[in-house]
Amino acid sequence: LGLRRCIVALAGWLFGVVALAPPTDAAAAQAERAGPAVQLYTNAATSALVRQAGGRPDAAIAVWRASLSRSGIAQREIGRDELIGGKAGGVLVLPSVAVLDDAERQAIGRWLARGGSVLASASTGTVGPGGQPRGHAFIESTFGVRVTGSARNVGGGRFLAPFGDSPVTHGLPAGQRMWLRDAGEPIVLVTADRVAGRLTDYVFANPHGVDNGVLAFDERGAARVIYLGFPEASWDSALADMDRLAADAIAWLAREPRVFKAAWPGARESAQLVEMDTEWYFEYATRLVEMLDRHALRGTFYCLTSVAVPAAAMLKRIGVRHEIAYHGEVHIGFKGLPEAEQASRLDRMVREMRLVLGDASAVTGFRAPLESFDATTEKLLRARGVRHHAVHIDSSRARLPFFSTAEPGLDREQAIVNLPRTQLDDLNLAERNVSGARAAELLLRDLRTVMEMRGLGLLSVHSYHFGPSGGARSSPAGGAAVGRPGTDYMVEPTERYLEALARARARHWIAPAGEIAQWWRARARVEHRVTREADRVQLELQVRAPGDVRELALIVTPRARGAAVAAMPRVPEHPLPRVVALDEFRVALVFDRLGAGSYRYWLNL
Ligand SMILES: [Zn+2]
Repeated sequence: LGLRRCIVALAGWLFGVVALAPPTDAAAAQAERAGPAVQLYTNAATSALVRQAGGRPDAAIAVWRASLSRSGIAQREIGRDELIGGKAGGVLVLPSVAVLDDAERQAIGRWLARGGSVLASASTGTVGPGGQPRGHAFIESTFGVRVTGSARNVGGGRFLAPFGDSPVTHGLPAGQRMWLRDAGEPIVLVTADRVAGRLTDYVFANPHGVDNGVLAFDERGAARVIYLGFPEASWDSALADMDRLAADAIAWLAREPRVFKAAWPGARESAQLVEMDTEWYFEYATRLVEMLDRHALRGTFYCLTSVAVPAAAMLKRIGVRHEIAYHGEVHIGFKGLPEAEQASRLDRMVREMRLVLGDASAVTGFRAPLESFDATTEKLLRARGVRHHAVHIDSSRARLPFFSTAEPGLDREQAIVNLPRTQLDDLNLAERNVSGARAAELLLRDLRTVMEMRGLGLLSVHSYHFGPSGGARSSPAGGAAVGRPGTDYMVEPTERYLEALARARARHWIAPAGEIAQWWRARARVEHRVTREADRVQLELQVRAPGDVRELALIVTPRARGAAVAAMPRVPEHPLPRVVALDEFRVALVFDRLGAGSYRYWLNL
């Protein structure tokens, strides 16, 4: 009977490889790190080269030593003789080991052929034993990447943005901006089948002009490999995140299965809010409504209440399908204003919304005029029933919702959920003076990045850019009116964006702000733990009141590409998860509905 309740996901079925692990073969649970020590490689030739260039010979390996020991990961160092001697196996790390001779290159090839794992960084293997440059052939052939260029002197384009929920970076939030200090060494950019991090600028754009992957992973034959394009010298400007990244990467190389909570519900991999700041030219909002409705998409309309009052009938119609939320009462920021003044302004805002809708209790979202607010604003908003807040792009380093800390100590059921704007908005585009066609390209680029990084996309547009086509397109002087209020500047770009969203909806979750915030709050009610009992792996879920968590997904990284994952409830009444192969290296356990309580499963990994 137990077996009948046991669902087996044959991820291999999708990819033509079936590898059923026997039930007792569950050695490497998350709770354990019993595997052999990570082997850090160093050689005299690289040390000499670094010394010659005025550097500290052991600088790169020292970064790994310190990071692994902070994470409690066993390590040992090996040199050329031991590598070539060829007995060792497990995880080999080559920290910017620039000089490799032919015997070393062959030994690394044998290591991989025996099913060992290898991670290398930056300049590894780019120099021959006599100091002659050898290019990137070693990196390309060993890691299955193609080097597209290197990043030097690129100013603000030095953020490592890791992908969320990936097998090798899942401990970091999607798109977390990790600044890579310029330590004088180039960052190697690559293109690869499986990338899990890119080098971007502050708004996740790619200023490098070539494919900007800096973190690639793969399973090649029996071996797992990871290449990091950035040197260890750059880690110290994002050290805590780097520790996390290194620990997750090593675990994947060591084939230790991991279980982590997916950012988004179901088997969907990213999320999207389309919202309008509905203010000047209020009536133009109907144009976006028509477009959204045509694609069966829903959005959020943040309304400036003083201009909403005369448009009450229209707003009520919008509210039938879409979310109505607050954009203040007049278009003036809140930041730094005295509390009493903020309170009276917000009271007026709520009063005006009641005038419009009759009952404003369903209005629980806010977006500050000019994105200008402070902790006082959020405290006052919460007291007025606001539950979520669309905030500016600087509010978070990552591309995920987060809980407001405006009122310290508040638990997550009470705290406001902040949704950071993560994309260029129409004002950014107008400032850049780009045409509608170029604006569409930039928006679609943002969408690709959001989806790839498995983050939250927040597209913000303004009512005054949704004017009638052929209307006030020209400035009084007769020039092109790029981004001018009252024009149809955003109609065509938004139409193209919505078309792309509609096509992507199976894996990209498109929802109004309130639903995204509600999900984030529900997700936070769940904690999971993986433990071992005898030789079996147990997954334990704790769901805090009020429960009601829909479509929570736990992602499992199997031991090998396409390997099976199964979950079997230890108590027959506990809900059975759906098992969905997300890709070759990740399987999702999706729980359709979890009430408050605790749940236990046997995992077969
Ligand atoms: Zn505004």
